[in-house]
Amino acid sequence: MPAPGELTLEAPRRGRPPAHLADLDMAGRREAMTDLGLPAFRADQASRHYFGRLETDASTWSDLSPADRDTVAQALLPDLLTPVRELSCDDGATVKVLWKLHDGSRVESVLMGYRDRVTMCVSSQAGCGMNCPFCATGQAGLTRNLSTAEIVGQVIAGSRLVRSGEFPGSRDRVSNVVFMGMGEPLANYRALMGAIHRMVDPVPEGLGMSARGITVSTVGLVPRMRELATEGLPLRLAVSLHAPDDELRDTLVPINTRYPVTEVLDAAWHYADTTGRRVSIEYALIRDVNDQRWRAELLAKRLRGHLVHVNLIPLNPTPGSAWTASDPDDERAFVRALEGAGVPVTVRDTRGREIDGACGQLAAATP
Ligand code: SF4
Repeated sequence: MPAPGELTLEAPRRGRPPAHLADLDMAGRREAMTDLGLPAFRADQASRHYFGRLETDASTWSDLSPADRDTVAQALLPDLLTPVRELSCDDGATVKVLWKLHDGSRVESVLMGYRDRVTMCVSSQAGCGMNCPFCATGQAGLTRNLSTAEIVGQVIAGSRLVRSGEFPGSRDRVSNVVFMGMGEPLANYRALMGAIHRMVDPVPEGLGMSARGITVSTVGLVPRMRELATEGLPLRLAVSLHAPDDELRDTLVPINTRYPVTEVLDAAWHYADTTGRRVSIEYALIRDVNDQRWRAELLAKRLRGHLVHVNLIPLNPTPGSAWTASDPDDERAFVRALEGAGVPVTVRDTRGREIDGACGQLAAATP
Protein backbone atom coordinates (compact mmCIF):
# COMPACT_ATOMS: atom_id res chain seq x y z
CA MET A 1 0.00 0.00 0.00
CA PRO A 2 1.36 3.43 -0.88
CA ALA A 3 2.17 5.85 1.92
CA PRO A 4 -0.57 8.38 2.65
CA GLY A 5 0.04 11.44 0.54
CA GLU A 6 1.56 9.51 -2.32
CA LEU A 7 -0.15 9.59 -5.73
CA THR A 8 -0.57 6.16 -7.28
CA LEU A 9 -1.69 5.45 -10.82
CA GLU A 10 -0.54 1.84 -10.99
CA ALA A 11 -2.19 -0.54 -8.53
CA PRO A 12 -0.25 -3.37 -6.88
CA ARG A 13 -1.05 -6.68 -8.58
CA ARG A 14 -1.20 -8.76 -5.42
CA GLY A 15 -4.57 -9.88 -4.12
CA ARG A 16 -5.97 -10.52 -7.59
CA PRO A 17 -9.36 -12.20 -7.30
CA PRO A 18 -10.09 -15.62 -8.81
CA ALA A 19 -11.35 -15.68 -12.39
CA HIS A 20 -15.11 -15.36 -12.85
CA LEU A 21 -17.61 -15.81 -15.67
CA ALA A 22 -18.25 -12.05 -15.70
CA ASP A 23 -14.57 -11.32 -16.42
CA LEU A 24 -14.99 -12.91 -19.84
CA ASP A 25 -16.67 -11.86 -23.05
CA MET A 26 -18.74 -14.50 -24.85
CA ALA A 27 -15.79 -15.83 -26.85
CA GLY A 28 -13.79 -16.14 -23.62
CA ARG A 29 -16.68 -17.94 -21.92
CA ARG A 30 -16.94 -20.48 -24.75
CA GLU A 31 -13.20 -21.08 -24.57
CA ALA A 32 -13.39 -21.48 -20.79
CA MET A 33 -16.16 -24.08 -21.12
CA THR A 34 -14.14 -26.02 -23.66
CA ASP A 35 -11.11 -25.89 -21.35
CA LEU A 36 -13.32 -27.39 -18.63
CA GLY A 37 -14.25 -30.27 -20.96
CA LEU A 38 -17.80 -28.95 -21.46
CA PRO A 39 -19.55 -28.14 -24.74
CA ALA A 40 -19.11 -24.51 -25.81
CA PHE A 41 -22.89 -23.94 -25.80
CA ARG A 42 -22.78 -24.16 -22.00
CA ALA A 43 -21.42 -20.59 -22.21
CA ASP A 44 -24.69 -19.37 -23.75
CA GLN A 45 -26.74 -21.22 -21.15
CA ALA A 46 -24.65 -19.93 -18.27
CA SER A 47 -24.82 -16.40 -19.68
CA ARG A 48 -28.60 -16.51 -20.00
CA HIS A 49 -28.85 -17.48 -16.36
CA TYR A 50 -26.26 -15.07 -15.01
CA PHE A 51 -26.84 -11.95 -17.12
CA GLY A 52 -30.35 -12.55 -18.45
CA ARG A 53 -32.10 -13.80 -15.32
CA LEU A 54 -29.60 -12.67 -12.66
CA GLU A 55 -29.37 -16.25 -11.37
CA THR A 56 -25.97 -16.29 -9.71
CA ASP A 57 -26.36 -19.70 -8.04
CA ALA A 58 -25.58 -22.44 -10.57
CA SER A 59 -27.43 -25.06 -8.52
CA THR A 60 -30.68 -23.56 -9.88
CA TRP A 61 -29.66 -23.91 -13.54
CA SER A 62 -31.86 -26.88 -14.34
CA ASP A 63 -30.93 -27.09 -18.03
CA LEU A 64 -27.40 -28.19 -17.07
CA SER A 65 -26.64 -31.59 -15.58
CA PRO A 66 -25.77 -31.53 -11.86
CA ALA A 67 -22.16 -32.47 -12.69
CA ASP A 68 -21.82 -29.64 -15.22
CA ARG A 69 -23.37 -27.15 -12.80
CA ASP A 70 -20.76 -28.12 -10.19
CA THR A 71 -17.93 -27.81 -12.69
CA VAL A 72 -19.07 -24.33 -13.80
CA ALA A 73 -19.71 -23.16 -10.24
CA GLN A 74 -16.30 -24.26 -9.00
CA ALA A 75 -14.33 -22.91 -11.93
CA LEU A 76 -16.21 -19.76 -12.89
CA LEU A 77 -18.51 -18.61 -10.09
CA PRO A 78 -16.36 -17.95 -7.02
CA ASP A 79 -17.89 -15.75 -4.31
CA LEU A 80 -16.25 -12.40 -4.98
CA LEU A 81 -18.40 -10.05 -2.90
CA THR A 82 -19.60 -10.80 0.62
CA PRO A 83 -21.94 -8.24 2.17
CA VAL A 84 -20.59 -7.06 5.54
CA ARG A 85 -23.01 -4.29 6.34
CA GLU A 86 -26.14 -2.87 4.76
CA LEU A 87 -27.64 0.47 5.70
CA SER A 88 -30.70 2.17 4.31
CA CYS A 89 -32.36 5.56 4.54
CA ASP A 90 -34.85 7.71 2.57
CA ASP A 91 -37.60 5.20 3.49
CA GLY A 92 -35.59 2.38 1.99
CA ALA A 93 -34.99 4.16 -1.34
CA THR A 94 -31.26 4.46 -0.63
CA VAL A 95 -29.33 1.35 0.33
CA LYS A 96 -25.61 1.31 0.95
CA VAL A 97 -23.71 -1.97 1.04
CA LEU A 98 -20.22 -2.54 2.37
CA TRP A 99 -18.63 -5.56 0.66
CA LYS A 100 -15.70 -7.69 1.71
CA LEU A 101 -13.64 -9.01 -1.19
CA HIS A 102 -11.82 -12.36 -1.26
CA ASP A 103 -8.61 -10.82 0.13
CA GLY A 104 -10.35 -8.89 2.91
CA SER A 105 -10.39 -5.54 1.03
CA ARG A 106 -13.58 -3.56 1.47
CA VAL A 107 -15.56 -1.53 -1.04
CA GLU A 108 -18.96 0.11 -1.07
CA SER A 109 -21.85 0.53 -3.43
CA VAL A 110 -25.02 2.57 -3.08
CA LEU A 111 -28.39 1.83 -4.66
CA MET A 112 -30.71 4.81 -5.16
CA GLY A 113 -34.31 4.47 -6.26
CA TYR A 114 -36.04 7.35 -8.04
CA ARG A 115 -39.48 7.61 -9.60
CA ASP A 116 -38.24 6.74 -13.08
CA ARG A 117 -34.95 4.92 -12.54
CA VAL A 118 -32.74 2.96 -10.17
CA THR A 119 -29.18 4.23 -10.05
CA MET A 120 -26.27 2.31 -8.58
CA CYS A 121 -23.06 3.98 -7.51
CA VAL A 122 -20.25 1.43 -7.79
CA SER A 123 -16.61 1.19 -6.73
CA SER A 124 -13.87 0.50 -9.28
CA GLN A 125 -10.90 0.19 -6.91
CA ALA A 126 -10.34 -0.83 -3.29
CA GLY A 127 -9.19 2.51 -1.93
CA CYS A 128 -7.91 5.19 -4.26
CA GLY A 129 -4.50 6.54 -5.19
CA MET A 130 -5.60 10.06 -6.07
CA ASN A 131 -5.21 11.38 -2.53
CA CYS A 132 -7.83 14.15 -2.63
CA PRO A 133 -7.56 15.62 0.88
CA PHE A 134 -11.32 16.10 1.41
CA CYS A 135 -12.13 12.43 0.68
CA ALA A 136 -12.18 9.54 3.16
CA THR A 137 -11.15 7.01 0.52
CA GLY A 138 -8.24 9.15 -0.62
CA GLN A 139 -6.82 9.28 2.88
CA ALA A 140 -6.40 5.50 3.05
CA GLY A 141 -4.52 5.15 -0.27
CA LEU A 142 -4.92 2.51 -2.95
CA THR A 143 -5.11 -1.18 -2.06
CA ARG A 144 -5.80 -2.64 -5.50
CA ASN A 145 -7.83 -2.49 -8.67
CA LEU A 146 -11.11 -4.36 -8.76
CA SER A 147 -11.57 -6.98 -11.44
CA THR A 148 -14.26 -6.66 -14.11
CA ALA A 149 -16.35 -9.30 -12.32
CA GLU A 150 -16.04 -7.51 -8.96
CA ILE A 151 -17.42 -4.35 -10.57
CA VAL A 152 -20.20 -6.12 -12.48
CA GLY A 153 -21.03 -8.16 -9.39
CA GLN A 154 -22.05 -4.99 -7.54
CA VAL A 155 -24.59 -4.19 -10.28
CA ILE A 156 -25.89 -7.76 -10.41
CA ALA A 157 -26.35 -7.76 -6.62
CA GLY A 158 -28.15 -4.41 -6.84
CA SER A 159 -30.45 -5.66 -9.59
CA ARG A 160 -31.21 -8.80 -7.61
CA LEU A 161 -32.18 -6.67 -4.63
CA VAL A 162 -34.41 -4.47 -6.79
CA ARG A 163 -36.04 -7.53 -8.36
CA SER A 164 -36.65 -9.15 -4.97
CA GLY A 165 -39.29 -6.51 -4.28
CA GLU A 166 -37.47 -5.29 -1.17
CA PHE A 167 -36.60 -2.06 -2.90
CA PRO A 168 -39.19 0.63 -3.71
CA GLY A 169 -39.79 1.87 -7.25
CA SER A 170 -41.21 0.81 -10.56
CA ARG A 171 -38.06 -0.67 -12.11
CA ASP A 172 -37.15 -4.33 -11.85
CA ARG A 173 -33.39 -3.82 -12.28
CA VAL A 174 -30.67 -1.25 -11.96
CA SER A 175 -31.14 1.11 -14.92
CA ASN A 176 -28.26 3.55 -14.38
CA VAL A 177 -24.72 3.13 -13.08
CA VAL A 178 -22.38 5.85 -11.85
CA PHE A 179 -18.71 5.16 -11.24
CA MET A 180 -18.53 7.46 -8.26
CA GLY A 181 -17.83 5.00 -5.46
CA MET A 182 -14.34 4.18 -4.28
CA GLY A 183 -11.55 4.66 -6.75
CA GLU A 184 -10.60 6.49 -9.92
CA PRO A 185 -12.21 4.38 -12.66
CA LEU A 186 -9.92 5.56 -15.46
CA ALA A 187 -6.90 4.35 -13.42
CA ASN A 188 -8.35 0.83 -13.79
CA TYR A 189 -9.17 1.21 -17.45
CA ARG A 190 -9.17 -2.39 -18.72
CA ALA A 191 -11.39 -3.72 -15.96
CA LEU A 192 -13.63 -0.65 -16.29
CA MET A 193 -14.20 -1.19 -20.01
CA GLY A 194 -14.75 -4.91 -19.46
CA ALA A 195 -17.38 -4.09 -16.83
CA ILE A 196 -19.06 -1.51 -19.06
CA HIS A 197 -19.26 -4.05 -21.87
CA ARG A 198 -20.78 -6.64 -19.55
CA MET A 199 -23.37 -3.98 -18.62
CA VAL A 200 -24.26 -2.72 -22.10
CA ASP A 201 -23.78 -5.77 -24.30
CA PRO A 202 -27.14 -7.34 -25.15
CA VAL A 203 -28.40 -10.37 -23.26
CA PRO A 204 -26.96 -13.01 -23.05
CA GLU A 205 -23.51 -11.44 -23.64
CA GLY A 206 -24.27 -8.84 -20.98
CA LEU A 207 -27.01 -7.11 -19.04
CA GLY A 208 -28.37 -5.12 -22.00
CA MET A 209 -28.28 -1.75 -20.22
CA SER A 210 -28.15 1.56 -22.08
CA ALA A 211 -24.68 3.10 -22.35
CA ARG A 212 -26.33 6.51 -22.03
CA GLY A 213 -27.28 5.58 -18.47
CA ILE A 214 -23.68 4.91 -17.42
CA THR A 215 -21.55 7.72 -16.00
CA VAL A 216 -17.78 7.48 -15.71
CA SER A 217 -16.41 9.97 -13.24
CA THR A 218 -12.76 11.04 -13.29
CA VAL A 219 -10.46 13.51 -11.60
CA GLY A 220 -8.99 14.16 -15.04
CA LEU A 221 -6.66 11.42 -16.29
CA VAL A 222 -6.30 13.16 -19.63
CA PRO A 223 -4.86 10.35 -21.81
CA ARG A 224 -7.58 7.97 -20.59
CA MET A 225 -10.32 10.56 -21.14
CA ARG A 226 -9.17 10.77 -24.74
CA GLU A 227 -9.08 6.97 -25.00
CA LEU A 228 -12.62 6.77 -23.64
CA ALA A 229 -13.75 9.04 -26.48
CA THR A 230 -12.57 6.39 -28.97
CA GLU A 231 -14.63 3.55 -27.48
CA GLY A 232 -17.71 4.29 -29.59
CA LEU A 233 -20.05 4.24 -26.59
CA PRO A 234 -22.28 7.20 -25.62
CA LEU A 235 -21.26 7.06 -21.95
CA ARG A 236 -21.66 10.12 -19.80
CA LEU A 237 -18.36 11.61 -18.64
CA ALA A 238 -18.22 13.46 -15.31
CA VAL A 239 -15.11 15.45 -14.43
CA SER A 240 -14.44 16.20 -10.76
CA LEU A 241 -13.04 19.70 -11.15
CA HIS A 242 -13.61 21.30 -7.72
CA ALA A 243 -11.59 24.40 -8.64
CA PRO A 244 -11.24 26.46 -11.83
CA ASP A 245 -7.64 27.54 -11.14
CA ASP A 246 -4.50 25.40 -10.97
CA GLU A 247 -3.23 26.97 -7.77
CA LEU A 248 -6.17 25.69 -5.71
CA ARG A 249 -6.81 22.55 -7.75
CA ASP A 250 -3.21 21.41 -7.21
CA THR A 251 -4.09 21.11 -3.52
CA LEU A 252 -7.66 19.76 -3.79
CA VAL A 253 -7.02 17.26 -6.58
CA PRO A 254 -3.27 16.50 -6.52
CA ILE A 255 -3.23 14.82 -9.97
CA ASN A 256 -3.76 18.38 -11.27
CA THR A 257 0.00 18.87 -10.98
CA ARG A 258 0.29 16.34 -13.79
CA TYR A 259 -2.85 17.24 -15.78
CA PRO A 260 -3.74 20.89 -15.20
CA VAL A 261 -7.19 22.45 -15.59
CA THR A 262 -6.74 23.58 -19.21
CA GLU A 263 -5.66 20.11 -20.37
CA VAL A 264 -8.48 18.43 -18.44
CA LEU A 265 -11.10 20.74 -19.93
CA ASP A 266 -9.64 20.36 -23.45
CA ALA A 267 -9.99 16.57 -23.07
CA ALA A 268 -13.56 17.05 -21.77
CA TRP A 269 -14.52 19.18 -24.80
CA HIS A 270 -12.89 16.60 -27.08
CA TYR A 271 -15.06 13.94 -25.42
CA ALA A 272 -18.20 16.04 -25.87
CA ASP A 273 -17.36 16.77 -29.53
CA THR A 274 -16.61 13.10 -30.28
CA THR A 275 -19.57 11.51 -28.52
CA GLY A 276 -22.16 14.31 -28.68
CA ARG A 277 -22.67 13.85 -24.93
CA ARG A 278 -22.81 16.72 -22.51
CA VAL A 279 -19.98 16.57 -19.98
CA SER A 280 -20.79 16.95 -16.28
CA ILE A 281 -18.48 19.10 -14.21
CA GLU A 282 -18.56 18.03 -10.55
CA TYR A 283 -17.74 20.76 -8.07
CA ALA A 284 -17.87 20.07 -4.31
CA LEU A 285 -18.59 23.40 -2.65
CA ILE A 286 -16.27 23.82 0.35
CA ARG A 287 -16.79 26.75 2.66
CA ASP A 288 -14.20 29.53 2.17
CA VAL A 289 -12.03 27.21 0.08
CA ASN A 290 -13.47 27.15 -3.44
CA ASP A 291 -16.84 28.91 -3.11
CA GLN A 292 -15.81 32.54 -3.69
CA ARG A 293 -17.66 34.67 -6.21
CA TRP A 294 -14.54 35.24 -8.31
CA ARG A 295 -14.03 31.50 -8.62
CA ALA A 296 -17.62 31.06 -9.77
CA GLU A 297 -16.99 33.72 -12.43
CA LEU A 298 -13.72 32.11 -13.51
CA LEU A 299 -15.45 28.72 -13.71
CA ALA A 300 -18.26 30.23 -15.81
CA LYS A 301 -15.71 31.82 -18.15
CA ARG A 302 -13.92 28.52 -18.69
CA LEU A 303 -17.12 26.54 -19.33
CA ARG A 304 -19.27 29.00 -21.24
CA GLY A 305 -20.23 27.92 -24.76
CA HIS A 306 -19.42 24.23 -24.26
CA LEU A 307 -21.66 21.16 -24.08
CA VAL A 308 -21.55 21.05 -20.30
CA HIS A 309 -23.57 20.87 -17.12
CA VAL A 310 -22.30 21.76 -13.66
CA ASN A 311 -23.23 19.65 -10.61
CA LEU A 312 -22.58 21.54 -7.42
CA ILE A 313 -22.20 19.15 -4.49
CA PRO A 314 -22.58 20.44 -0.95
CA LEU A 315 -19.51 18.93 0.74
CA ASN A 316 -20.18 15.94 2.96
CA PRO A 317 -17.42 16.46 5.52
CA THR A 318 -15.28 13.46 6.44
CA PRO A 319 -14.99 12.78 10.18
CA GLY A 320 -12.41 15.03 11.80
CA SER A 321 -12.10 17.28 8.75
CA ALA A 322 -11.86 21.05 9.18
CA TRP A 323 -13.67 21.52 5.86
CA THR A 324 -17.39 21.86 5.64
CA ALA A 325 -20.19 22.70 3.23
CA SER A 326 -20.62 26.25 1.95
CA ASP A 327 -22.91 28.77 3.55
CA PRO A 328 -26.31 28.60 1.74
CA ASP A 329 -25.99 32.26 0.67
CA ASP A 330 -22.60 31.58 -0.92
CA GLU A 331 -24.03 28.48 -2.60
CA ARG A 332 -26.88 30.54 -4.08
CA ALA A 333 -24.46 33.24 -5.27
CA PHE A 334 -22.30 30.56 -6.92
CA VAL A 335 -25.34 29.18 -8.74
CA ARG A 336 -26.40 32.68 -9.86
CA ALA A 337 -22.95 33.46 -11.27
CA LEU A 338 -23.02 30.32 -13.43
CA GLU A 339 -26.63 30.79 -14.51
CA GLY A 340 -25.93 34.44 -15.32
CA ALA A 341 -23.24 33.29 -17.74
CA GLY A 342 -25.62 30.79 -19.37
CA VAL A 343 -23.91 27.71 -17.86
CA PRO A 344 -26.48 25.05 -16.84
CA VAL A 345 -26.12 24.15 -13.18
CA THR A 346 -27.87 22.08 -10.51
CA VAL A 347 -27.16 21.51 -6.85
CA ARG A 348 -26.98 17.76 -6.44
CA ASP A 349 -29.23 16.04 -3.95
CA THR A 350 -27.09 14.43 -1.30
CA ARG A 351 -28.62 10.99 -1.00
CA GLY A 352 -27.33 8.81 1.75
CA ARG A 353 -25.80 11.57 3.81
CA GLU A 354 -27.09 10.08 7.05
CA ILE A 355 -25.50 6.74 6.21
CA ASP A 356 -22.00 8.03 5.59
CA GLY A 357 -22.75 8.78 1.97
CA ALA A 358 -19.42 10.19 0.87
CA CYS A 359 -17.18 7.64 -0.75
CA GLY A 360 -15.11 5.62 1.69
CA GLN A 361 -16.85 6.78 4.84
CA LEU A 362 -18.69 3.55 5.57
CA ALA A 363 -15.56 1.48 5.02
CA ALA A 364 -13.60 3.87 7.21
CA ALA A 365 -16.20 3.63 9.97
CA THR A 366 -16.50 -0.18 9.99
CA PRO A 367 -13.81 -2.18 11.78
S1 SF4 B 1 -12.44 12.03 -4.37
FE1 SF4 B 1 -12.51 10.27 -5.77
S2 SF4 B 1 -10.54 10.43 -6.90
FE2 SF4 B 1 -10.31 11.72 -5.06
S3 SF4 B 1 -9.37 10.34 -3.52
FE3 SF4 B 1 -11.63 10.22 -3.27
S4 SF4 B 1 -12.25 8.41 -4.48
FE4 SF4 B 1 -10.20 9.04 -5.17
